[in-house]
Amino acid sequence: MFTKNIVGGEFSSEGKSTFQSFNPELNRHNAELFFEATSVEAARAAKLAKIGFEKFQKVDHDKRASFLRSIRSEMERDKTIILDAFCAESGLSRERGEKEFTRTVFQLSSFADLVEKNEWIEASIDTSDHPAVPDLRKQLFGIGPVLVFGASNFPLAYSTMGGDSVAALAAGCPVIVKAHPSHAKTSGLVASAVLRAIVKNDMPPEIFSHLYAVDFKVAHQLVQHEAVKAVGFTGSFHGGKALFDLANNRKHPIPVFAEMGSVNPTIVFTENNEDKYDAWAQVLSQSMLTDAGQFCTNPGLIFIQKSSTSKLFIHQLEELFLNEAPKCMLNSSIAETFREKKQKLLAADLGVFKQSTNEVRENYGAQAFLKVDAETFIREEQLREEVFGSFSVLIEFETYLEILSCLEVIEGQLTGSVFVSEEQMKNYRELIQQLTSKVGRVILNGVPTGVRVCPSMNHGGPFPATTDSRFTAVGIDSIYRFARPVSFQNFPDDLLPKALRNKNSFGIARRINGEWTKKDVG
Ligand code: NAP
Repeated sequence: MFTKNIVGGEFSSEGKSTFQSFNPELNRHNAELFFEATSVEAARAAKLAKIGFEKFQKVDHDKRASFLRSIRSEMERDKTIILDAFCAESGLSRERGEKEFTRTVFQLSSFADLVEKNEWIEASIDTSDHPAVPDLRKQLFGIGPVLVFGASNFPLAYSTMGGDSVAALAAGCPVIVKAHPSHAKTSGLVASAVLRAIVKNDMPPEIFSHLYAVDFKVAHQLVQHEAVKAVGFTGSFHGGKALFDLANNRKHPIPVFAEMGSVNPTIVFTENNEDKYDAWAQVLSQSMLTDAGQFCTNPGLIFIQKSSTSKLFIHQLEELFLNEAPKCMLNSSIAETFREKKQKLLAADLGVFKQSTNEVRENYGAQAFLKVDAETFIREEQLREEVFGSFSVLIEFETYLEILSCLEVIEGQLTGSVFVSEEQMKNYRELIQQLTSKVGRVILNGVPTGVRVCPSMNHGGPFPATTDSRFTAVGIDSIYRFARPVSFQNFPDDLLPKALRNKNSFGIARRINGEWTKKDVG
């Protein structure tokens, strides 16, 4: 059944067009034929999501939490076949699959805990003791049906029941997933687990649709459908911006939370830090190589301070980076784009280009870097574009002023890292300030890859890294992307939502007349 679409909680295969996913490791198509959704199915999914929203809003928070935990159990039941599909469709290792699975089910549990506590709704109450002054009470509600685009590079953690979907469901929003065709089976198996959890928990079936599509028609139709109220996307700048523009041109524009490319500037202060070269080169090369560099947090720009010993550091980094065996990429088109982008930079002849000379099989990506000086970096805009894969531009800078000028020309990023000794840190306050204004996460003596999922994580950043720098895409605070506040003015107690009534029946922290408290009103 997982080869069919799911429309409002029911399997559906009305179209004639089918497609297969691809095994990049074996360089051949996988067996299953997936049905592409028709525009009639897409329209039905949106219409049902609207109905589902009304029903889902009435479901108690603790039931919503049990539903999320139940999705976790259902996914765990099918873990082996999900991971088999994960590996067969992504070229990623079983070990990575295990890690991503653990992260995905952890996200489900942490959102269940969040919803159960009820505090995310940010209940706020301002009472009045004068007839001319209104009594006002405010809380957050789900925004409405959310359209989620599965990401190629996270077949589990940012796909069918990944960060965007779980945040939306937690907020009480129905989800329509546009599955990534690269890993259709992985997505379909997870979608089937969601469906079982819907039935077991007596949830409105209309809250979940899962659609396959390889052309853009269905996606564009859904982004423009009046029932869809927000979009979550992870992928290319081109794709994210196209969807963002479409959403903004609707009669009633909606928010698009697109997480797009990032080159993650990483600055290494080599002077008087020779004792740290080994460790820094190790951690950096691993970050550049992990899973063929197919991360939005890949360190794509590495600025290295020119010093009497910096050549030694660069040599160490080169050796560690280039000597590793190239890895399989997510799909043939990503592998091809990687080859083309490297080729274009090599042809531009802007500096020293070095590439792994190890054997490169079909759909594998040979890691490479390009070394340039700061002046070239500032002049050549193409050096600041994301090359998705194990590729970094190494920029040697001479002075503090020069590195500040380099950072000046960089656009918004997810992260910025600085490798420096603690004693030297205080000399670089201006640089940290500059990074803070450009990125969503500033990292000291660490690499951008390896994103910890916790409440204090910010995974976002100014455009073009994302389309809305005010929100994180990782961690429980990502729920705020899919929520909106409503105030109730002069309402009698029994007509108010439960969390805003005088009696604090949920026992949650509420802001009453400016003070956070768990007390009742009055
Ligand atoms: P993508 O091309 O942006 O696609 C992501 C999803 O959005 C897919 O489901 C895709 O549908 C859909 N889509 C893309 N453009 C669209 C458009 N104009 N209208 C409607 N739907 C659209 O990303 P990808 O397939 O994951 O990889 C391609 C490139 O994206 C990579 O080479 C890399 O440069 C970049 N990428 C970046 C990150 C990052 O985190 N920075 C992550 C992944 C990919 P179809 O699959 O049907 O085309």
